[in-house]
Amino acid sequence: MSFDLIVRGANLPDGRRNIDIGIKDGRFAAFAPQLPGEAGAEIDAAGYLVTPPFVDAHFHLDATLAAGFEGRFNESGTLAEGIAIWSDIRGRISADNFRTRALAYCDLAVSQGLLAIRSHVDVTDPRLLSVEVLLDVKKQVAPYLDLQLVAFPQMGYFSSPDMPNNVVRALDMGVEVVGGIPHLEPTGELGHESVRRLTKLAAERGLMIDLHCDENDDPNSRNVETLAYETRRLGLQGRSAGSHLTSMHSMDNFYAGRLIQMMAASGLQAISNPLANMFLQGRFDTYPKRRGLMRIPELMAAGCTVATAHDSVLDPWYPLGKADMLDVAFMTVHAAHLSSHAGMRDCLRLITELPAAILGLEDYGLAVGNHADLVVLQASDTFEAIRLRPARLAVVRRGKVVAETPRVESRLSLTGRPAAIDTFAIRAGI
Ligand SMILES: [Zn+2]
Repeated sequence: MSFDLIVRGANLPDGRRNIDIGIKDGRFAAFAPQLPGEAGAEIDAAGYLVTPPFVDAHFHLDATLAAGFEGRFNESGTLAEGIAIWSDIRGRISADNFRTRALAYCDLAVSQGLLAIRSHVDVTDPRLLSVEVLLDVKKQVAPYLDLQLVAFPQMGYFSSPDMPNNVVRALDMGVEVVGGIPHLEPTGELGHESVRRLTKLAAERGLMIDLHCDENDDPNSRNVETLAYETRRLGLQGRSAGSHLTSMHSMDNFYAGRLIQMMAASGLQAISNPLANMFLQGRFDTYPKRRGLMRIPELMAAGCTVATAHDSVLDPWYPLGKADMLDVAFMTVHAAHLSSHAGMRDCLRLITELPAAILGLEDYGLAVGNHADLVVLQASDTFEAIRLRPARLAVVRRGKVVAETPRVESRLSLTGRPAAIDTFAIRAGI
């Protein structure tokens, strides 16, 4: 059999080692040790881990790389100051500026093996300039990156009389997911009402819905309960997600247990943002400082589809980040105590197959017949990939290499020691 491309000697996340991957017409055609046959091109992955591409289920492409815009930085590190800065600057951002930052982030994402992003886009400004630009960016990057957009009323659905119409206008323009932020509505009751209105809108239009939900340290912030109820009532199972859910960390265990069972029974998906949540939450605590994280292991154990996402990179909410989903996995290990070997394998699933399911990506994953999309990492297995967050030696999309990074090594000038070392190869048990 002839192939367009063979990736030789790969280790796979399921534990198989030294597997050849045959690719034909943009799809996976074979996985086998020492695959016979010829190929137009080969990638030597001997000893390296090959994963499916990373997927970010929660991001803000309109705000990314805007940290320091007009000299404004979030000095308090709070969600409130981030929102205040963004509210002040967004009306003065040009279309060119939105486009330049979004495309630069997509370039960075591809270099890191991140090939699918669900991005919220703020619809507060009635010009909907960022919506227009990001819909255009979505078309431009489509050959190499799946971009899914969410109509997001950043200040709340009831924050102004225009907002419900802005959400609908964005959907009419082609945005495919309904967004919202019930915990930011003027009253608790309006929060629940926004969930009812937005789920109804999603159901009527046959769309997915993804609400920023209960992103605070208040154990009584319980909009997710209404979201789970409406998801089940309206038949939105499998296309309805609650993002953040940080209040879940502070809820009493009895209520949280009941809520988790209700979420699982409703088919509600949950998207956590450990980097941004660890940064922004707990800011009003003295000691101990709460982690402000949804209950990831418990939700997974109950059967919920959970993803971990980046949320923000270099924007008014989060001043760090480099489009590296392995950073998210690394933080998840610590913050959610997913520290066993099985837990670490889950941390990789939380940034690959699980968010892929939430986005509804078709033919995703390392299996015959699926799109030939993969990442070759300079690490030997899942544990090492999360520990090292190493170089992405090759990123392949539809059978074609779209990004490469040379193998990283450090040169040493030490008497009696090697002249160069592969820092990613020094591990326990060598
Ligand atoms: Zn967000």
